Amino acid sequence: MTQRILAVVGMPGSGKGEVTTYLENFHNYSKVYFGGVTLDTLNEAGLEVNEENERKMRENLRAEHGMAVYAKLSLPKIQKYLEEGKNTVIDGLYSWEELKFLRENVNDLRVIAVIASRNIRYERLSKRPIRPLTLEQVISRDNSQIENLNQGGPISYADHYIQNEFSIPELHNSINKILGIKRRPSWDNYFMNVANVISTRGTCDRKYVGAVIVDPKHQILTTGYNGSISGQPHCSQVGHKMVNDHCVRTIHAEENALLQAAKVGVSLEGGILYSTASPCWNCFRGIARVGIKRIVFGEMYRDKEIKDNADNCGIELVDFSKLPSDKLWEVD
Ligand SMILES: [Zn+2]
Ligand SMILES: [Zn+2]
Repeated sequence: MTQRILAVVGMPGSGKGEVTTYLENFHNYSKVYFGGVTLDTLNEAGLEVNEENERKMRENLRAEHGMAVYAKLSLPKIQKYLEEGKNTVIDGLYSWEELKFLRENVNDLRVIAVIASRNIRYERLSKRPIRPLTLEQVISRDNSQIENLNQGGPISYADHYIQNEFSIPELHNSINKILGIKRRPSWDNYFMNVANVISTRGTCDRKYVGAVIVDPKHQILTTGYNGSISGQPHCSQVGHKMVNDHCVRTIHAEENALLQAAKVGVSLEGGILYSTASPCWNCFRGIARVGIKRIVFGEMYRDKEIKDNADNCGIELVDFSKLPSDKLWEVD
């Protein structure tokens, strides 16, 4: 296969960094980081690296050397990687001018745009562990990137689009599709996808949760979603039934999966439970009681108490969102 040259573009918080990292770590891409030019120039000038200085430096460099400056300064590195036969990913391409320059100077450049809605991006940026941004800073940065850095062009003119509003495994899957790679999901990944589909049947919109219980041989035993008692009205029809800030109209997904086993007479001993959210204490007690030995959850929900008790109950607790790629996909 001939080497590829990809540029990943997207607004702040869209997740383009995650895409680049995945290409580097999992597909062995070599990265050319345009932002490195800003950091190098700030360091040379003895200026502190921060949001404000970086922005000023980006704008200054472009005012002085033209909007394609980053692409021009990074071109030798890109060419070197391509000559060495390396798959290469460009991180930090912003302006329309940079894209035009690269398209004129690099063969077969393909642009991947990573998109996510504003609210999701803002939430990510305010919660990121390194240099979180206030809402004011995010809006100012968005405006600056569109108005001063001409970032809209490359995003609207990409070869591929990834909507990154879901889970990391789904993001990785989208990347693999673009690369033309078919990967088989691991069992954990496969059953978490099943649990996600099951959650769509939930009847309380305060939280849609899906659960599936399988045996150690990967056979599905029972499933459940958070729903009203069979035949009884849904929250969407009669409203929630609130007690202590929780809606108690529905039976939780995990409990429904346990109850289905009782109804049809299936042993859950030694089983594995997949749930899109971590079980509450109430469900956890039932899960432990029926002899389930492993719980894989999609997101940590309330009741961290289960963490303190899982060991004692001989249950392995697995946070799906923290699984590394080699646990999500079968390695070919
Ligand atoms: Zn409800
Ligand atoms: Zn529960």
